[in-house]
Amino acid sequence: MRELFPFFKQNPDIVYLDSAATSQTLYTVIEDLNDFMMNRKSNAHRSGHSMGSWVDSKYFHAKELIGQWLNIKQPSDRIIFNSGATQGLMDAVMMCAKQYAGGNIYVGVDSHHSLLLPLQKLARENPWWSINYIGLDTSGKLNLSDLEQRLLKDEGAKIIAVTAVSNVLGIVNDLIRIKDIAHKNKATTIIDASQIIGKRSLDLEGFDFVAWSWHKIYGPMGLGCLVIDPVWLEFDPVRPGGGSVISVNLAGASWQTTTSKFESGTQNLAAIVCLPRLITWLIKHKEDLESHDRAMANLAYSHVPQTCFIAASQPDSGLLSIFPAMGATEDYVMMLDAKKIMVRGGKLCAQPLIDQITGDKSLIRLSWGVYTMPREIEAFFDRILEIHGRFQKFVQ
Ligand code: PMP
Repeated sequence: MRELFPFFKQNPDIVYLDSAATSQTLYTVIEDLNDFMMNRKSNAHRSGHSMGSWVDSKYFHAKELIGQWLNIKQPSDRIIFNSGATQGLMDAVMMCAKQYAGGNIYVGVDSHHSLLLPLQKLARENPWWSINYIGLDTSGKLNLSDLEQRLLKDEGAKIIAVTAVSNVLGIVNDLIRIKDIAHKNKATTIIDASQIIGKRSLDLEGFDFVAWSWHKIYGPMGLGCLVIDPVWLEFDPVRPGGGSVISVNLAGASWQTTTSKFESGTQNLAAIVCLPRLITWLIKHKEDLESHDRAMANLAYSHVPQTCFIAASQPDSGLLSIFPAMGATEDYVMMLDAKKIMVRGGKLCAQPLIDQITGDKSLIRLSWGVYTMPREIEAFFDRILEIHGRFQKFVQ
C-alpha cells in the first residue's frame, strides 16, 4: 500500500504519524488534481461546453460512487458537497436552529470543537436552547445509559450530537444504540464521522446529519460531505446563492429539488473530480483498511506499558493519545520532530475532554493510515523512551 502514496517516496526519512489530522494522499488523487488544473479546469452545472459537461459527469459519478460505497440510496437527494466537516457540522446545527424554536442539546463530552462550538453558539444566542453533556463510561465510550435516563424526562425538541470516533480517544462509540435512542425519543441526530470514515463500516441510514472531510481519507483538502436524511431536503438552504435555485425573480426564488440547493457557489471541483478513482480504491480495499487499522491500534497500545506514559484510552481505531509522567508534551513533540517523527501535541481541538483527562495539561497523539508500518510506531516509542531518559538525567 505504501507505494501508492507518493509522499513516502519523496520523503523516505519522514515518519509521518499525524494521519488523524490529515492523511497522506493516494496517487490517483494527485494525478487527477494535476490533470484538472493543467488540462480541464472549468465550472460545473453552468457551462454549455464539453469541458463543463466533463466536470458535471465527474460530479454526478462521485455522488453515485459515494452512494455505492456507503449504501446510500438516491445519493443526489442525500449528499451535499462542502468545504469539510467543520462546515457540515455548522450547517447541520443551523438547519436544526431553523426547524425548532428551542429544546435540549445532548452533545458528547468527547466532541471536537467543530461540533461543540456551533452548538454552544446556538445555546448562547438563543435562550430557548440549552446544552447537556453526555459523559463517558469507564470504557471511554459515551455513557448511553445515562443519556437514556435523562431523555425519559425530556418532552421537548432535542438534538443528539456525537462524534463516531473521538480524535483524542480513538474509541468507536455505539452508533447503533445512539440511533435507537434517538428514534425512540424523536431526537434529531448530528454525527461527526471525521475519524471513522474509511476505517469502519458505517450505516448512515436513519441519522439526520453525518459529516466528514475527504483530506482525512487519502483525498484532497478543502472538500467534505454532509449526508442528510431525505426529510431535510424539504428545507430552505441556510446558505443560498448561485446554483441553489431553479429560477429567481424580484419577488423570490424557487429552490433546486436535489441537494444542489445546499451547494451554492462554485464547489471545490478540483477536489470533486478526484473522488471517482479514490472511492473506487476505497471500495476495493475496505477490508484491508479496517484490518490494518485494528492491527496498528493493538500494536501502538501494546507499547504503552513499557513507557512512563499514561494512555488516555485503549483505542479501537486511528490513533493513540498519551501524556508524559515527566516533562512537557511540547518538548517531546519538538524532540520527536528533530528526528523527523511527526506527531501532534496539545489540546487536539477537544479541550474540554483533554482538560478532564489531564487536568489542564496536553497530550501527544500518534495516528496512522493504511501506509503506516509497524517499524514507524516502534521508532516513535524508542524515541520517547530516549527523550524520557534525558529528562531523568536532568532531574537526578
Ligand atoms: N471532527 C473531528 C473528530 C476531527 O478530528 C476533525 C479534524 N481534526 C474535525 C471534526 C474537523 O475537520 P476539518 O478540519 O477537516 O473540517
